[in-house]
Amino acid sequence: LAGLKISASSYNDKILDEEYMGNAAKVNGVLLMLVRNWELPYALRSMRSLEDRFNHDYHYDWVFLNDVPFDDEFIEATTLMASGTTKYALIPSSDWDKPDWIDEAYFEQRLKDMEKQNIIYGSSKSYRNMCRFNSGFFFRQEILDQYDYYFRVEPDVEYFCDFPYDPFQIMYQEKKKYGFVISIVEYQSTIPTLWKTVRDYIEMDQGRDIDTNTDLYGFITDWNDIRTPRSRVDSTDKYNNCHFWTNFEIGDLNFFRSEEYIRFFDYLDSTGGFYYERWGDAPVHSIAATLLLKEDEIIHFDEIGYMHAPYFTIPQANYFQLKQRCINNYQEDSRIDFSGISCLTRWWKHGPGKKFMKETYHLA
Ligand code: GDP
Ligand code: MN
Repeated sequence: LAGLKISASSYNDKILDEEYMGNAAKVNGVLLMLVRNWELPYALRSMRSLEDRFNHDYHYDWVFLNDVPFDDEFIEATTLMASGTTKYALIPSSDWDKPDWIDEAYFEQRLKDMEKQNIIYGSSKSYRNMCRFNSGFFFRQEILDQYDYYFRVEPDVEYFCDFPYDPFQIMYQEKKKYGFVISIVEYQSTIPTLWKTVRDYIEMDQGRDIDTNTDLYGFITDWNDIRTPRSRVDSTDKYNNCHFWTNFEIGDLNFFRSEEYIRFFDYLDSTGGFYYERWGDAPVHSIAATLLLKEDEIIHFDEIGYMHAPYFTIPQANYFQLKQRCINNYQEDSRIDFSGISCLTRWWKHGPGKKFMKETYHLA
């Protein structure tokens, strides 16, 4: 394996260095799954894989959330699958269900419109509750009060390489607030007015929480590509629909609990877009992170092998794939990172990875 080192190159060299990372105390992190009772076999599949590839060395707690009570069968099987403590909580209706001020007739009309347009989950009411919950309420659940970081896990995903590090420790030690593995473009038809709403918010914000004069702003818009002198509030900026795929995410709960995030969420929510359209938690988290965080507070975990149908990502370097014992039996055309709808190359250009790319490939 030593000979293969030659092909190993990573912009995360620092966090792969065991000496640099040291032996920090266990971080206050939790593995978090929102899930339905009938998804039990899929939940177990995800747990098995994350336990084998990561958590069996760490025993982080698992927290399960549901809008209806978990049944005994679910609790028994997931408890036995976990290497850490398991906890279960019922989401209060006020954090899950459609608020009263949503116009019922208009909502029903919009569901029909979106069904006709064949929009994915376009006519689903529960999916909308889920997206709004994941955007604005998951981090306020009492059961999470004692934790600082969460690692979102979904049913029916696979982590198919050994983790070469504890991502919670990296979040804590490197002061990261948001971590992702896959970034792709969102379906425009699910978010027709999201960007206009965000622009209105930026305008109202008047520079209090948000600075758009950053490289990160160029990750979600095209303004770095044109780089003309511009005013901070420029209504011609367009969202390029790039977002972090939130079915995998590792985050600092205190970022989401912050006034800045909650203000941003409340404004979006007040327009009804989670119901009249079908705004996903992925574009919402992603736009918030790029507007409210500094670029080196966001980390791309390149070294994690992850599959959530229909896409997977795998460590770029063959050396890491071997060393981390990856088992990749997915179709090559499901590999997302260099496909046309991936935003990862854009991240390398505009995110913190640009320093590494410049040095490695001598880019201008
Ligand atoms: P997709 O990944 O966008 O296709 O959507 P999923 O069906 O995977 O849903 C996203 C996450 O929300 C998963 O963790 C689901 O288990 C969970 N989820 C979706 N709808 C509901 C629901 O009505 N109730 C509960 N408790 N969880 C849900
Ligand atoms: Mn899913």
